Amino acid sequence: MNNPLGIHALVFAGGTTPDEVDTITAGAQRARYDIIEFSLHGLDHLDTASTKQLLQDRRLTAICSRGLAPDADVSSEDLAVVERGAALLHESLQATAAIGGVRLTGALYSAFGKAAAPLSDAGRRNIVSVLRDLAVEARGLDVALGLEVCNRYETNVVNTAADALRLADEIGEANVDVHLDIYHMNIEEKNFRDPVRLLGDRLGYVHVGENDRGYLGSGHLDFASFFDALGEAGYTGGITFESFSSAVVSPTLSNDLSIWRNLWTDSDDLASHAHDFLVEHLARATA
Ligand code: MN
Repeated sequence: MNNPLGIHALVFAGGTTPDEVDTITAGAQRARYDIIEFSLHGLDHLDTASTKQLLQDRRLTAICSRGLAPDADVSSEDLAVVERGAALLHESLQATAAIGGVRLTGALYSAFGKAAAPLSDAGRRNIVSVLRDLAVEARGLDVALGLEVCNRYETNVVNTAADALRLADEIGEANVDVHLDIYHMNIEEKNFRDPVRLLGDRLGYVHVGENDRGYLGSGHLDFASFFDALGEAGYTGGITFESFSSAVVSPTLSNDLSIWRNLWTDSDDLASHAHDFLVEHLARATA
């Protein structure tokens, strides 16, 4: 397997000010990654023009991700809350396109955090309606939209690959695909093979992270099984390493993701270790 490899910006810095974008892209380049993933929680500080230039200079492809917020949530029954969620998604899509990004992904369908109740039918209709419009807008900008499958403590909308496929079908736009993350799969799926087989060519993007979101290979996840399934499915998309520690903090995202512990301190060591791990394990995967 020879997939483009990516790394999440929060390995290097917690925000997206010009100085932080410099630190992030330099770190990704040093560790030989092809893709940098920015979380768009700090849009106010993002200078899109200089970021786009830096990405070109450093030969990095940008992918953006985000989740929504309780007062800006397209899965709500409250239309004012849905409107604010739709506006946040629109701004995020515009920022993705402005930095030359090729994909906007994540929990685009709901607020981060433990829901108090199951998703309602009205909430589901709101998600489908907003994401269908967003997909049409994204198509004009050449941006793909990903539905990341997240665990039950982060969303009540999409917890398994089957859930995501159903939502993608309801949205019914060709540039909306599914994003699997082995960290969430470990919590919600029966194994790491069947979800990949179920999705087939509807799988558009992949996150890898250890079960505690620390160093790859230091925990109990069966990466070989996952990578074999990706190889057998002919998956050629990006594989991005996601890892979080209290050593690098985003005031919002770190709290949303429950990053309370210090799992690493050396960003460069973590990044190059993960790159070596991915190259070695993907080379061994069943084609
Ligand atoms: Mn993820």
